[in-house]
Amino acid sequence: MQVCRSKAAIRSTIAAFRASGAPVVLVPTMGFLHEGHLSLMRLGRERAGADGRVVASIFVNPTQFGPNEDFDSYPRDEARDFDLLRAEGVDAVFAPEATEVYSPNAQTIVETTELAKTLIGKLRPGHFRGVATVVTKLFNITRPDAAVFGQKDYQQLAVIRTMVRDLDMGIEIIGAPIKREADGLAMSSRNVRLTPQDRAAAPILARALDEAEAMAPTGITASRLRSHVRATLEAEPRARVQSVDIRDATTLETISGPLARPAVILLAVSFGKVFLIDNRVVHPAQEET
Ligand code: AMP
Repeated sequence: MQVCRSKAAIRSTIAAFRASGAPVVLVPTMGFLHEGHLSLMRLGRERAGADGRVVASIFVNPTQFGPNEDFDSYPRDEARDFDLLRAEGVDAVFAPEATEVYSPNAQTIVETTELAKTLIGKLRPGHFRGVATVVTKLFNITRPDAAVFGQKDYQQLAVIRTMVRDLDMGIEIIGAPIKREADGLAMSSRNVRLTPQDRAAAPILARALDEAEAMAPTGITASRLRSHVRATLEAEPRARVQSVDIRDATTLETISGPLARPAVILLAVSFGKVFLIDNRVVHPAQEET
């Protein structure tokens, strides 16, 4: 596996890969890899094929963190990450410093104007501008045929699909299902920062989503379903509920009344200083066409 620290190095590595004409698939991450990330690498390999190349990136992007967020305490272990990527057969990793990625007088941003200011965008102003801008830069640096992102970050996936469509980027975006721990907790690099008590309480997110999934086909309204999920989460004294939303699963637009189409339930919950998100697409008994 080639380890590239500079844009020039990853560009020339990928140029050599491309000489064979086989596809290049990018899997962007912030590192501290877990089984969820590795499932993305496997999907990347499936898309690339035996002759194609899978390129991972590891970059904790400062511009997507707010001033009071966890950029400094975000977990990092590059040596372990490289071992895991090697074991998955990843062909190259781009792991730059922030000074390599951003020029000091950078002034260009990419923003999905509507999607960036709703849901998580309200809780984390500027977050999706940082994400869209860095993903655009990673796409421009690596020029992949396809890129893989997890449905764990449901709104992020919607932001990226929208950006690729709106700016004619011509990159296939592949969404990967959420990987969970045995007790249902969605895997996240941040889970290691939970205290033992909070770790024991955190599967409440998955339980609330299980309940909602079971209730969705009963003809329940979106607002009652949302209240039910919120009450389940609030019954856990260690959980600080940041937001519970039910949106159209495709457009992320608000919905009201009985569910008529697939809906996504989006949760953001803090335990101490650790911010966790989770989501589930749920279905009514009969879907309107
Ligand atoms: P991150 O390192 O948290 O930025 O995540 C990098 C990529 O892995 C993103 O596309 C995430 O959506 C995805 N990802 C993170 N956690 C999971 C998970 N539990 N299951 C599937 N994909 C995930």
